[in-house]
Amino acid sequence: MAEKKKQRVTKKYEPRKHCPKCGTASRLAEHPNRRSCGKCGYTEMK
Ligand SMILES: [Zn+2]
Repeated sequence: MAEKKKQRVTKKYEPRKHCPKCGTASRLAEHPNRRSCGKCGYTEMK
């Protein structure tokens, strides 16, 4: 069985805005319509 080698999908993690709550400890994740912090849940609508 020829199993395809799993391609590692690595999102280009660009340095983005830092979370206003967590400071430099966390960056906001980019979403099509918002930015959010995975640590404190801060969300910023675009
Ligand atoms: Zn945060």
